[in-house]
Amino acid sequence: MSPQPLVIAGTALPLIAALAALAIPDYWVTLLTYAGMSAVLCIGLVMMTGYGGITSFGQAAFAGIAAYATAILTTGLALSPWLGLLTGLALAVASAFVIGWITVRLSGHYLVLGTFAWGISLFYAFANVEGLGGYNGIGGVPGLFGGSRLLFNALVWAFVAVALLGAVRVLDSRIGRAIRAAPSKAMAESFGVDTATAKLTVFVLAAALAGAAGWLQAHYLRIVNPGPFHLNASVEYLFMTIIGGVGSLLGAIVGATAVTVAKSWLQTSVPALLGSGFNLEGVVFGLLVLGLLQAAPRGMTALLPASFALRPRGSRRSETRLPPRAKPAATQSVLALRSVSKHFSGAQALDRVSLDLNAGEILALVGPNGAGKSTLFNAITGLSPASNGTVALLGEDVTRLPARAIARRGLARTFQHAHLRPEMTVIENVSLGAHTRTAQGVAAALLGRDRPEESRIFGEARGCLAELGVAEFANARTGTLSLGSQRLVEVARAVACDPIALLLDEPAAGLRAEEKQHLANAIVAMRDRGIAILVVEHDLDFVANVADRVVVLDFGTVIAQGTPDEIVRDPRVIAAYLGQAEVSGDVARALHH
Ligand code: ADP
Ligand code: MG
Repeated sequence: MSPQPLVIAGTALPLIAALAALAIPDYWVTLLTYAGMSAVLCIGLVMMTGYGGITSFGQAAFAGIAAYATAILTTGLALSPWLGLLTGLALAVASAFVIGWITVRLSGHYLVLGTFAWGISLFYAFANVEGLGGYNGIGGVPGLFGGSRLLFNALVWAFVAVALLGAVRVLDSRIGRAIRAAPSKAMAESFGVDTATAKLTVFVLAAALAGAAGWLQAHYLRIVNPGPFHLNASVEYLFMTIIGGVGSLLGAIVGATAVTVAKSWLQTSVPALLGSGFNLEGVVFGLLVLGLLQAAPRGMTALLPASFALRPRGSRRSETRLPPRAKPAATQSVLALRSVSKHFSGAQALDRVSLDLNAGEILALVGPNGAGKSTLFNAITGLSPASNGTVALLGEDVTRLPARAIARRGLARTFQHAHLRPEMTVIENVSLGAHTRTAQGVAAALLGRDRPEESRIFGEARGCLAELGVAEFANARTGTLSLGSQRLVEVARAVACDPIALLLDEPAAGLRAEEKQHLANAIVAMRDRGIAILVVEHDLDFVANVADRVVVLDFGTVIAQGTPDEIVRDPRVIAAYLGQAEVSGDVARALHH
């Protein structure tokens, strides 16, 4: 989505809210205010859960931190509520840094349990810490605007608008793409993303929005007690987000509004219909949620046309490109492997592999399935470091460096099974390849100062897509592409790195003849630009076409190296391959050339 309509929507929201408040009954104004306050928090949840892959059951606790902060400052110390806002946000952010530092490093269920743990701890802290008023809380918190409900409602929706604008700007930026790639950790780290930092960033941003919601609540209700910051509230926010649709920022607003209205309606109509003996409205609410999720498993906004859903699209048009990386001179050694071994609990996947790769050279790595080719890629790129031996990149020992540090030095790769983010557009996926060549951060994105760099990134990505013959898909959602096209997109992403060394793991598998030709041309063109290329490929025709040299791996050891011609005649190679029905056809064909 382009920012202009969003700015218009952003200024329109509070205006509409104010006007609506004039025209509709008080009861509805109250609901609108509640919905808006929840929406501010839920926008953070969409960023964190929907885009960053972190499910949080503790978001209400951050709202509580800001609410208590402003309550103390504005009652005890009689300071301005606006100072309370700044302090509340600062405290929510600071505690998110500390809590996030520990939590986001956990994975899967442990992370979810972690959010439970701090959600509960903070609730009990609110109730028990001296000076916070126990379960009764702190009363006498000042209202805003002399208690005008209309102005307060407009303020709430102004917060929603700002949150929305900020969220779109962040998600549709360099850091936003890193956040959205972070759930695919191995891939993201291979392109230089520090996934722990990316997750911490979105965690802190979401906490800031929760803090803003807590501040609003404190000055709306004019009393702060632990109740609204209980685990139950966190679960309800999560419900709102899921019902609205975690994949869409609009989902936060739709979900918050739908749940607020439904709850209020149930609270009055269920006891009237079914008697007020039990808490039946909770049961009916639960059934409604289940029914809704049956009808729209991806939330209410998933039923809308895509352009309504406020998803970051990354659709900048530009022809300018990023400045190229300094390249080593032709024939200079780029990668030097010495005696690289890799053990997996007993099994020896690589046994003393040594090889050299020079600038401006295409080296093909061939060998039967299970020979250790992908394992070698993971050892070189730092995803799964060698057990023994050394890997040098431009003369520097990188054997023990993390993948993202090696990526920053100019190594790019593709994966045997494409690792793309299916919900991101093709051009956004490719833009991630340029992560290490660019620098803008969250602040620049929030202020819109990253746009010049962003247009160069997108110009670069478009150029790389064109080089692989898949430019037509630039704005498609990646998950909708055929597997062959996805492979080419993966190669384009690696090219967007402007790498010094490029590692391609079976890039031609499953490609149609015409696609293979595009790929071969692109590989040769990159070689001619001085890039060192290591390519794993089973199709020996393809290898014979593009490779300068071939290394043959079998059972984790190098059994032969030489020119393509020498290799296809080598009896050890033929023996190694003939054991394998699926590739022997390729060998036979290559031998008949
Ligand atoms: P190739 O890419 O040449 O087909 P791989 O590198 O994927 O082969 O695998 C080489 C050997 O290492 C295989 O025997 C495989 O089962 C084993 N292997 C690969 N990764 C792991 C792992 N993470 N844990 C245990 N064994 C593994
Ligand atoms: Mg493999």
